[in-house]
Amino acid sequence: MTRRQDSQSVWIDGRIVPADEATVSFFCHEIHYGTGVFEGIRCYDTEEGPAVFRLPEHLERLRKSAHSYELEYAHSDADLTQAILDLIRSHGLKECYIRPVVLLGEGKLAVMPEDNEVMTCIAIWSWGRYLGPEALSRGVTTTIVRKTRKYPAVCLDPTVKAVGHYLNSVRATREAKARGFDEGIMLNTEGRVAEGPGENVFLVKDGVVITNPVEECILEGVTRASVLELAQAAGIPTRVEPITVEALMDADEVFFSGTAAEVTPIRSIDEKVVGSGERGPVTTRLQDDYLAAVHGRLPRFERWLTRVEA
Ligand code: PMP
Repeated sequence: MTRRQDSQSVWIDGRIVPADEATVSFFCHEIHYGTGVFEGIRCYDTEEGPAVFRLPEHLERLRKSAHSYELEYAHSDADLTQAILDLIRSHGLKECYIRPVVLLGEGKLAVMPEDNEVMTCIAIWSWGRYLGPEALSRGVTTTIVRKTRKYPAVCLDPTVKAVGHYLNSVRATREAKARGFDEGIMLNTEGRVAEGPGENVFLVKDGVVITNPVEECILEGVTRASVLELAQAAGIPTRVEPITVEALMDADEVFFSGTAAEVTPIRSIDEKVVGSGERGPVTTRLQDDYLAAVHGRLPRFERWLTRVEA
């Protein structure tokens, strides 16, 4: 794969630009100060062709993130939807990852922006299993990272998906990989579980599916909300409550949720094996249901799909 994967063209404020020419100025505010926001969305193959999973929810979060940094863009959600569907059609991909970025461009190059242009760009590319080909079946190894904590809301708003915020995730991922683990888990500054660098965390205890609330410093994942709804639909009890390290370590099953990670079992946390060390029954059920929903095999959740072919 090239550095741009199979991305052929990029949508920039209504123009379709060949990927090689999709460049921004060195003088963009975002390059110097991290002032951009983004989304990660997936399009999946279904029996009736490709479909984007929960596109309105992702576009809503993009607008909310942009608003929090005063990066207002003129495009409506309908315009962005059209742009995304056109890009997928023109690339001829059945499945892909979709990456919109709203960034602060040229203008004043100081911390306080002034009349800087706002650019909206969308790229797509093929992206397989985020945490490796066997992650969904075998699960991943994790560590509670020691050198990084999730930032509290008084520093940066964890519910905002901003470019600069991801230095926190880069640090956590680097530490986990350097110590030989597949992925890290970050605690919040209170010492309770926050989230993964790009995933929310769930545990299963005595048949109850538990995840932590937004006050615990997490991004409110679209996948997290989907998993909670799928559990309820399957008659599996759910609770949203803070998760202590002890509760995490004592869980029967633990898994990550995220657009990229989908529903990935966690096989171990530091030296401790979770449950039997294999994907547990509740995780299996929710993963099966999630994959069925994204691939259009659950009629009840058809409303989560935006069809690429009208
Ligand atoms: N937390 C963080 C820090 C993330 O980057 C992501 C991925 N967007 C998630 C959680 C999961 O969010 P979603 O399910 O919306 O992809």
